[in-house]
Amino acid sequence: NTSNDTSFFGHPGGLLTLFFTEMWERMSYYGMRALLVIFMTMTLQEGGLDFSKDNAYAIYGLYTGAVYFMGLSGGWIADRLLGGQSAVWYGGITIMLGHIILAIPSTNTFFIGLIFVVLGTGLLKPNISAMVGQLYTEQDTRRDSGYTIYYMGINLGSVIGNLVCGYLATNWGYHYAFGAAAIGMAVGLIQYRMTQHKLGTIATGPTVSMSATGIRNSWVGVLIFLLSIVVVTFLMSTGAMVIDVVSVAKSVAYIFTAIFVLYYASIFFFGNLDSAEKKRMISLLLICIASACFWAGFEQAGSSLNIFAHENTERLLGSFEIPTAWFQSLNAIFIITLSPFFAALWINLGKKMLDPSYGIKCAIGILIMASGFIVMFFAAQAAASGLKVAPYWLVATYFLHTVGELCLSPVALSAVSKLSPKRFAGQMMGLFVLTYSIGNVIAGVLAGSFGGEESGDLSGLFAFIIQFTVSIGVIVFLVALFTRKWEKPEQENA
Ligand code: GLN
Repeated sequence: NTSNDTSFFGHPGGLLTLFFTEMWERMSYYGMRALLVIFMTMTLQEGGLDFSKDNAYAIYGLYTGAVYFMGLSGGWIADRLLGGQSAVWYGGITIMLGHIILAIPSTNTFFIGLIFVVLGTGLLKPNISAMVGQLYTEQDTRRDSGYTIYYMGINLGSVIGNLVCGYLATNWGYHYAFGAAAIGMAVGLIQYRMTQHKLGTIATGPTVSMSATGIRNSWVGVLIFLLSIVVVTFLMSTGAMVIDVVSVAKSVAYIFTAIFVLYYASIFFFGNLDSAEKKRMISLLLICIASACFWAGFEQAGSSLNIFAHENTERLLGSFEIPTAWFQSLNAIFIITLSPFFAALWINLGKKMLDPSYGIKCAIGILIMASGFIVMFFAAQAAASGLKVAPYWLVATYFLHTVGELCLSPVALSAVSKLSPKRFAGQMMGLFVLTYSIGNVIAGVLAGSFGGEESGDLSGLFAFIIQFTVSIGVIVFLVALFTRKWEKPEQENA
């Protein structure tokens, strides 16, 4: 019980362990991710892979989708076989190996490295996120605030990764940048081992009770899965198997959504849940839907908003030209500066018993994010005349997107940790992480189907996103008024 432990900014000491481990993991992830498309599309002479843009985008989409998709298997393995603490450790090692392999220049090592990062992140990400919540008792009002602090670690890592890997890539070469990602993950692992004792007894072993044969069969399943990845990778590297990445990427949104529904339904119907657990599962479903829709809008950051920054925004300040990429860091900067405020806000509302329910916070987050697109709609109209608009439009949009993100994303993580049936903690977090994946893929599809307009006018896309997100925000709000009463921790509901 860590309810009396206030050693890390008023939070349990284990939060320090998880904060820095996730910070270094995200440093390696975002640092590498920022370079991926450029590296793939650069010519061989420039040191790149000389892929076509279409292929590079599709591979990028599949890679980021796969990273979050694998959270499902990662949660499953932790719940049944490893426990969260070991899952994070082995996941981190796999990620580090992935970045080391990426640092070796060749097309084959490139893909093998990516596969390692995908598998490792699947193992690490959902389980570390689930463990944050396990630092708190059911009644502890610090939980939401703890997740907000943890979320700050995520974004600190992203800023460090972008700066370090971006610098190395342009000044030293891409393989040094990938190497730096490996070193970042290694630092995270060392830090994890040195401070792991602060986690105490949480997530030290599997939570789903199984017979010896069940355990053996599960390991056999894991082995078969890994073997099939090895076989497919081998066939593809020899050219014996060719997949069209562009068409695969297009169907992935449907496949992932179908898998989400099936997995959720199997836990709901066959997980031996009692009626209170089922009610909490329904309120979680609402939060998952809210999350997928939120990211479908928010993740325009990398595509349409990025293009708007590049083509329609006045970036000349006197003789200085603001690099387009700088706009991408606004989100993380706002997260880091606003997080302490939100962490305090949730604690204070919790103390005064004024805490809005999880569902309501998610709805508010979506609506605030939507208001960012209202700003963008006017910016796009102003830019339609061919004039470049002031950078403030994008700054205001990213500000609103970040405030929305802080109302939804850390809060939803907290909700999943609190409302999931305990024995499925890892898998439920894996299922939640899958909503990132679905949201990101839909964001790409949306940008692709509207954003390709000849005129370069993005107001049609933004108008559509406003309609979509405002409707979802209102629906989530209304449904949350009903599911609110089911968001009670175990003891109170019984
Ligand atoms: N920035 C958050 C993270 O890295 C959420 C990512 C996402 O695409 N949903 O965990």
